[in-house]
Amino acid sequence: MTVTRFAPSPTGYLHVGNLRTALFNFLIARKSGGQFILRLDDTDPERSKPEYADAIKQDLEWLGIEWDRVETQSSRLDRYADAADKLRAIGRFYEAWETPVELDLKRKKQLNMGKPPVYDRAALELTDAERDAFRADRGNGVWRFKLDHARINWTDGILGDISIDAASVSDPVLIRGDGQVLYTIASVVDDTDMGITHVVRGSDHVTNTATQIQIIEALGGTVPAFAHHSLLTGPQGEALSKRLGTLALRDLRDSGVEPLALLSHLARIGSSDPIELRGSVDELVEGFDLNRFGSAPTKFDVDDLYPLTAKHLHAQPFAAVKADLDTLNIPTDKKEAFWNVARENITTRHDIKQWADLCANGADPVIDDEDKDFVAEALTLLPEMPFTETSWSDWTAAVKEKTGRKGRGLFMPLRKALTGMQHGPDMGQLMALLQVVRAKP
Ligand code: GLU
Repeated sequence: MTVTRFAPSPTGYLHVGNLRTALFNFLIARKSGGQFILRLDDTDPERSKPEYADAIKQDLEWLGIEWDRVETQSSRLDRYADAADKLRAIGRFYEAWETPVELDLKRKKQLNMGKPPVYDRAALELTDAERDAFRADRGNGVWRFKLDHARINWTDGILGDISIDAASVSDPVLIRGDGQVLYTIASVVDDTDMGITHVVRGSDHVTNTATQIQIIEALGGTVPAFAHHSLLTGPQGEALSKRLGTLALRDLRDSGVEPLALLSHLARIGSSDPIELRGSVDELVEGFDLNRFGSAPTKFDVDDLYPLTAKHLHAQPFAAVKADLDTLNIPTDKKEAFWNVARENITTRHDIKQWADLCANGADPVIDDEDKDFVAEALTLLPEMPFTETSWSDWTAAVKEKTGRKGRGLFMPLRKALTGMQHGPDMGQLMALLQVVRAKP
């Protein structure tokens, strides 16, 4: 059975980049009838916050991305300690005491000599006495995994065949001096214990994957299939990382983006499939295929979400928005008619209110100088309130007859006088909902 996981750290809010990872893993699991696990990578006690964990769940729920179960790394520390013991026992784990400043110096020297800045394994050369001295002087060191200096190969579900020379990678630190277990080991222990079959994540994790493959093998686990999706960039190809703060899922939600618009977009950008609005998560699952994604950075433009949002809303039946309409000042017997008038004229749900306000309160008239007399005369012919479905045609017919105006010259000044706007819903339907006309003859 396919088992995937989305593994955010609860140290902040999810943004569009995270969503892409979550969505791919979710869709793969759903497509094959497998399981999708939400795993909270919360081994950093300082930065992990319960409110972020809650926010992550809320954001996924809002989008309809349902997980089969939640796992938290903070509750599995014993398992990571066991794995560390095992690595020690087989001679693949060693303690090192270099300070960040010392490591930085080493890196600079290597770079100056034109060498790759790979950890030199000096700690492996320490005698027992030197080790004791360091421990006495600096306390516990960090624990590094001793890579096997061979090539690490895998066939990536998106990038194709990958081969990385382990000698070009520093032995990864898996446990910090203060005992904090780091992501790399926690993740492989979880992936193995939880029977994860497919790991899909951003291409910034490619080197991690190389080292994790060796750690999994050292621990006797089964290596899952890996796929690394490209990272999102801004519309101009610029790095998105700085703007991700403004692309938090909750901010998009607040700005009126509809879940299916967001999902439809993110499940397709960067693939060879066209971006089409899907009506449900099931439809997204159906059309999803990891093989159709490319490795090139993927442009993301938040503005693309609004046309899809509008399209989604235009297609919504009354029942789907009734709860929104109930919060607005619209007579009960007119709500459905109101929705049918308003929906073509909104981009997000926030825009509904503007039409409800117009119907309830009327609008400040906009009357061009050259139309003053014409509109004044037309208003003397305005039908009695309450208006009906025929009020607009009756009125404009009467005005046409009296003034001789027709076409745009007839309709536009009247629309502007009643709604204060040049554009908007069909006037025949809108007028039947209009409770107040502010323009006076
Ligand atoms: N917590 C990691 C991250 O957010 C998870 C990466 C992974 O999927 O393994 O980058």
